[in-house]
Amino acid sequence: MRRYWFIIFGAALGLLVHPGGDAFAGPAREGARNQAVSPGGASKPGDSATSAPFVVVIDPGHGGRDAGSRGALLVEKDFTLRAAGMLAALLARRPEVKAILTREDDTEMTAVQRASVANYNAAALFLTLHADASWRPGARGPAIMVAAPRRPPRVAGEAAQAVAFRWQRSQNIHLASNRRFALNLQRRFAAIRANEKPPIRILAVRNLEGVRMPAAYVSLGVISTPEDEARLSETGEEDPYITALAMAVLKFAGLTEDLPPKPPAPAEAAPPESSQAPESSEQPESSETEVAPPESPRTEPDASEAQNAAPAGEGR
Ligand SMILES: [Zn+2]
Repeated sequence: MRRYWFIIFGAALGLLVHPGGDAFAGPAREGARNQAVSPGGASKPGDSATSAPFVVVIDPGHGGRDAGSRGALLVEKDFTLRAAGMLAALLARRPEVKAILTREDDTEMTAVQRASVANYNAAALFLTLHADASWRPGARGPAIMVAAPRRPPRVAGEAAQAVAFRWQRSQNIHLASNRRFALNLQRRFAAIRANEKPPIRILAVRNLEGVRMPAAYVSLGVISTPEDEARLSETGEEDPYITALAMAVLKFAGLTEDLPPKPPAPAEAAPPESSQAPESSEQPESSETEVAPPESPRTEPDASEAQNAAPAGEGR
């Protein structure tokens, strides 16, 4: 008789433990993660997931008094703004993608402000664009950096400290996604020029700290090397590196990798001849009238502390 009680008791226990255990281990957690990562967090409950655009926040590095690195003529903060604008324009050809810039003019921003733009817009991807200088004379080509994992705090600190730790560790849950994006971009960059496979560096990058979505730091070339500076200066709409970035974003978003042709510019639709007063609409858009004096290149400030922390043997 006692044996039967055990069986009944055991069966009841099994019923109690099993469904709950499954629910916690499986779909509930997966669902929570999807919700947290989904770019459509702000959409109405009735919206289907496919109607929400893939939000990518593009951060032109530096700005304002923080000019970044310098080449002989090119200033990093100007290049990054131009490159980010071109990338956003390319992605704007796809209605499924919404590209947001952290700055659209020569504004000075802190790393926290840049991260906040991405977090506030519930972006699915954050890209900070740069053109680093290097202390090595022959260094050239792009480079990709992703956040290194951060260790959890050793002691439970005070509230403010705990928040700071959480802020610094925000990239920890995106390491695999970061790597997926970086490897794909690396492959595309490597296909542009022979023998120029860009390195992927895993570092504590301040610009990626606090960003609560997959993120990468992309240096599009070495501004202090004349050959690279010349290439960066000529970066135009059809630039292969900008196109590669756009394709990597589309791939990461799970979209087909094609960009519809550029819509005709409104100026081209104007009648070729008009009897009215001639308009000088042919304003060249060179905003770089003021040319910086040649200066000895300095190392990239954002990455310098990170590079110090880099393991040996992976420098350019
Ligand atoms: Zn920079």
